[in-house]
Amino acid sequence: MPVSEKHLEYMKEKIAELCRIPSPTGFTREIQKRLLDTFEGLRYRAWTTRKGSVVVQLNERDGEIGPKETTILSAHIDTLGAIVRAIKSNGRLRLTPVGGYPLTNIITENCLIHTYDGRAISGTIQQCHSSTHVYKDVNSVEKTDETVEVVLDERVESKKEVEALGIETGNYISFDPRTILTERGFIKSRHLDDKASAGILITLAKILRDEGYPEQALLNRKAYLLFTNYEEVGHGGSAGIPEDVEEILAVDMGAVGDDLGTDEYKVSICMKDSNGPYDYALTRMLIDLAKTEKLNYAVDIYPMYGSDAGAALRSGKDIRFALIGPGVSSSHGYERTHIDGLSNTCRLLMSYLGMP
Ligand SMILES: [Zn+2]
Repeated sequence: MPVSEKHLEYMKEKIAELCRIPSPTGFTREIQKRLLDTFEGLRYRAWTTRKGSVVVQLNERDGEIGPKETTILSAHIDTLGAIVRAIKSNGRLRLTPVGGYPLTNIITENCLIHTYDGRAISGTIQQCHSSTHVYKDVNSVEKTDETVEVVLDERVESKKEVEALGIETGNYISFDPRTILTERGFIKSRHLDDKASAGILITLAKILRDEGYPEQALLNRKAYLLFTNYEEVGHGGSAGIPEDVEEILAVDMGAVGDDLGTDEYKVSICMKDSNGPYDYALTRMLIDLAKTEKLNYAVDIYPMYGSDAGAALRSGKDIRFALIGPGVSSSHGYERTHIDGLSNTCRLLMSYLGMP
């Protein structure tokens, strides 16, 4: 069965809601809390781990659940961001990036500086030489943390004045996600990597609850959800996976561009990324399911990509592992996906879990 209109609307709402909560890697308290509230509302058992992942148990293993491997579906809730490296003598801030992206992707973006006492002060990320009416090298200057700065929306001209606002070295900086849902089914936003997938997983749990699958024990296996922190710096999925898990299915954005087959309308199934090949049998099974369900999908090789499945493996877990996700274009920039890609991904997960 296709995902219903009602659940697709719910999914879009959840993705937009998640995108609008600032959560650069390591600064995910608020979004963890929101997830716990959401899953409590849906009446699932959910908990946080010490390093800030949220784990949700979808069902129990009992006589009625099928014999298939206990699985965990993961998505990451941390995003790219920055941290105040230093307050400059002219009242501007020098930043250090959190996660991997070229600084060109954030120049002219609005941002928030999160003070230690819990306030948020707005600003804009600009080149130090920002005005084309003044500087000849606006285009040619190399973009580094020495040539890019945060301009606060405050009347400050000295380090002292900035400190008086309560801004200090080590404060997190989050970027304006500029989340837009268009009439034609596109979602444009920063951080669709990986909040699009997190929204899909929440919707999956909502469908289960609405359709009563857990009560009827219709899932073909015991299943958990894992929402990780620290994925963007490489070790998100390295902890927090319950002991009885035998399979991890990382749900993370599908890369779009060059010779890749994935686009914003497809579910991407990844056979190999920077860390090497994914589990062949599990990946083949997902391809077969996509074929049987007649989903719009592509199998791809990602040359510059790592996932929480890789992090789980490197932590020493003896589990099977695969990676799928909705196609997201312009990743780690101002990203875009489409409801069709989200729907195809959700449908593949449902099929994997044995949901009708
Ligand atoms: Zn990601």
